Amino acid sequence: MIKFLDLHKINERFRKEIDERIKNVLDSGWYLLGNQDKNFEQNFAKYCGVKHCIGVANGLDALNMIIRAYGFGTGDEIIVPANTYIASILAISENGCTPILVEPDINTYNINPDLIEEKITTRTKAIMVVHLYGQAVQMDKIWEIAKRHNLKIIEDSAQAHGASYKGHRTGNLGDAAGFSFYPGKNLGCMGDGGAVTTNDDELAAKIRAIANYGSNRKYNHIYKGINSRLDEIQAAVLDVKLPYLDKDNMRRREIAKYYRENIKNPHISLPETYSEDAHVWHVFVVRCDNRNALQQHLEANNIQTNIHYPTAPHKQKCYTEYSTLSLPVTERIHDEVISLPISPVMTDEEVKKVVEVVNAFQ
Ligand SMILES: *Cc1c(COP(=O)(O)O)cnc(C)c1O
Repeated sequence: MIKFLDLHKINERFRKEIDERIKNVLDSGWYLLGNQDKNFEQNFAKYCGVKHCIGVANGLDALNMIIRAYGFGTGDEIIVPANTYIASILAISENGCTPILVEPDINTYNINPDLIEEKITTRTKAIMVVHLYGQAVQMDKIWEIAKRHNLKIIEDSAQAHGASYKGHRTGNLGDAAGFSFYPGKNLGCMGDGGAVTTNDDELAAKIRAIANYGSNRKYNHIYKGINSRLDEIQAAVLDVKLPYLDKDNMRRREIAKYYRENIKNPHISLPETYSEDAHVWHVFVVRCDNRNALQQHLEANNIQTNIHYPTAPHKQKCYTEYSTLSLPVTERIHDEVISLPISPVMTDEEVKKVVEVVNAFQ
C-alpha cells in the first residue's frame, strides 16, 4: 500500500530528538508560555524573515485573531479565493465580516489577481491570499492593488511553510500571516498548533494579548480575549522539525518534478508553477475528466489518494447564503481535482509506481 501521507514514518525520523525535547518539558514542569515556545517563535520568525512570530493553538485561530486585531467586523468585506479550504472563509465570517469570493486561476489553483480589483468596494478592508496546495501566490499585482486601495494583505500560509516569492518566504509577503502546524502540514506537530507572523509591532502585541485572555500582563485584561496558545510540547516538536523543513520541501520538489515530467495521460492535467522556489508541494493536485474513476483505479492498485476538496465552500450547507453564486472555475476544480501521494518519506520506487499506475489509467 502506498499511503497518501505516512505521518508515522515522517515523525519517526526525529524520534530521538523529539523524545529528548519532550523529556525536557516534563523535567521542567512548565507546560505553557515557556522557553520551548519562545525558542520556536524566534526560530520560526527568523526562518520566515519577519520580526514577530506568535505561537497559537491552530491555524484557524491565527487567521481569526489577525482579522480581529485589525478591528474588522460587521459590514467589512474581505476578499478571499473561492476555492480555498473552508478555514480561510470561516475566519472571515466568524468576525462578522463578509467574504468576497474570487475565482482562482485554473492552472495554478491560486487566486486570479486580475479578478480582484472589480470586487473592491468602499467596505473592502483586506485581501486574504491563500498559498494553496503549497504554492506562494504571485504577489506583484496584489501588492499594487492593496496599496492603491489601502487594504491589508492577510496571508493564509497554512499549506506553504517555506515557499517563497521573489526571495521572500510566505509569512513575509503581506501585513500578517496565519500558519497551521496540523500534523499533516509540511511543518506539522503532534496535535494542533499554529502561528501568526508579522512585522507590525502593534499588531503582534495585540494578538499576543488576545490569545491570552486579552491580557497584556497577568490579571490585567485589555481585550475580551480568547485562550489560544501553542503548548510547550508542540513547540518543542516543531523546534526539532524546523531545521529539516527545507530538506523535506526539496524532496517534495523532486517528487513533483518527476511526476510532472513523467505523468503522461490525456485524461490528466498537471499543476503548473511559475518558479521552483514558489512551490513546496503540500499536496500534488491534478485534474482529471473522470476523477472518481481515477481514484478507484489507484485504490485498486493500492495507492491512496485524497480530494482537496470535494465541495466548494459556497456549496457547503453552512454557507447557503452564497449557494446561488456562479463560480464556474471553482466548481470545475472541485469536480475534477485529485491529490496524488507526495511526502518527504516516499521512496523512489513508490513514486515510480504511482506514475506507472496513473499512466495506465484509461
Ligand atoms: C489547515 C488549514 C487551515 C486551518 O488550520 P488548522 O490548524 O487546522 O486550524 C487554514 N487554511 C488552510 C488553507 C489550511 O489548509
